[in-house]
Amino acid sequence: MNDNQMGYYYLQVPGPTVVPERVMSAMARPLLDHRGNVFAELASTAVQNLKPIFKTEQSVMVIPCSGSGAWHAAITNCLTEGDKVLIPEVGMFSTLWGNISRKLGLEVIEIEGDWRSGIDADKLEEVLNADKQGEIKAVFATHNETSTGVTSDIAAVRGAMDKAGHDAMLFVDAVSSLGAMEYEHDKWRVDVTICGSQKGLMLPPGLAFTAVSDKALEVKKTAGLVPGYFDWTPLIEASHTGFYPYTPPVTLIYGLKEASEMLLAEGLDAVFARHAKLAKATRAAVSAWGLETQCQVESQHSNAVTAIRVPEGVDADELRASIYKQFNLSLATGLGKVKGKVFRVGHLGYQNPLTLMGALSGVEMGMEAFGIKFNKGGVNAAMDVLAK
Ligand SMILES: *Cc1c(COP(=O)(O)O)cnc(C)c1O
Repeated sequence: MNDNQMGYYYLQVPGPTVVPERVMSAMARPLLDHRGNVFAELASTAVQNLKPIFKTEQSVMVIPCSGSGAWHAAITNCLTEGDKVLIPEVGMFSTLWGNISRKLGLEVIEIEGDWRSGIDADKLEEVLNADKQGEIKAVFATHNETSTGVTSDIAAVRGAMDKAGHDAMLFVDAVSSLGAMEYEHDKWRVDVTICGSQKGLMLPPGLAFTAVSDKALEVKKTAGLVPGYFDWTPLIEASHTGFYPYTPPVTLIYGLKEASEMLLAEGLDAVFARHAKLAKATRAAVSAWGLETQCQVESQHSNAVTAIRVPEGVDADELRASIYKQFNLSLATGLGKVKGKVFRVGHLGYQNPLTLMGALSGVEMGMEAFGIKFNKGGVNAAMDVLAK
């Protein structure tokens, strides 16, 4: 943040998100012996709290790494060198998932996308139908594409796989959707769901979470890559016992217990409704400004982040820098092929109507100061949504 500015710093990016005071205080406690019973009890409770959040009765675990590490773990625990995986391209994160898959020796079949819409379930079904030999071992679906603000329908992805009668595993990246929008690991029969700590879960970066189906654990028994540090087996055991195969990040586990309790106390339905309303207010502002969202399909707008396109000839990163300097407000950059063309407003995690209004006011004032051509009144349009 700007050290020379007083008052609240608006961290309005879709991860890392704002960490609640309650979680910060929990993490300020002294460290514990990680092989003692007190920590074991605390850690197992914290990790088991993830089950209702993933909506699963199957295995969950914490992996000490960033979200990308959970991709690495998922690939190395249940796939074999040369396995084919199918990845619908939706934006930067689906692309990065493909890149790490290739590095680890998988053969990636990509379904090209336009970065402005979600996964096309019909197209997916078609590709799976054509795979008569069952060579595709897994579909990698990004639930909420954080780079574009587009959410894909995972139930429809599962439906397409069922219709094709294909027996590939379904891996879902829910890094920026878990704890922000409806997610159903068991009901959608997802085999591996991947998440990170620093988005909807309101924690600092540093932990990854994974939910795994019994089917995936069966496949793991004969899979051929070497997970090494990322072996799920001792981590799943630790989710029950609280005893880790290596020193766990004790401080972040304190935070996980607190943050998961906060989410469960608010109630997941209320959490999702809060995110939906903040997202709707943000879109009302964009529309009143006369600007375009990167997402072009009405029903696929993300409730976690909105990517806003700047008018032709404007550099979105220069606008962001100017807003940051004036108002101590951090907006997120455009990634990959939309760099400079969009800026993103994160509205997930520890957010409420007033934090969002502060951020949207900063955007509106900042655009005026920067000399962008737009219509005023976005802030009012957002207030109209939030006041209802
Ligand atoms: C943030 C994010 C990741 C990567 O997580 P890291 O913690 O940065 O490794 C992966 N996928 C999605 C959709 C994300 O938003």
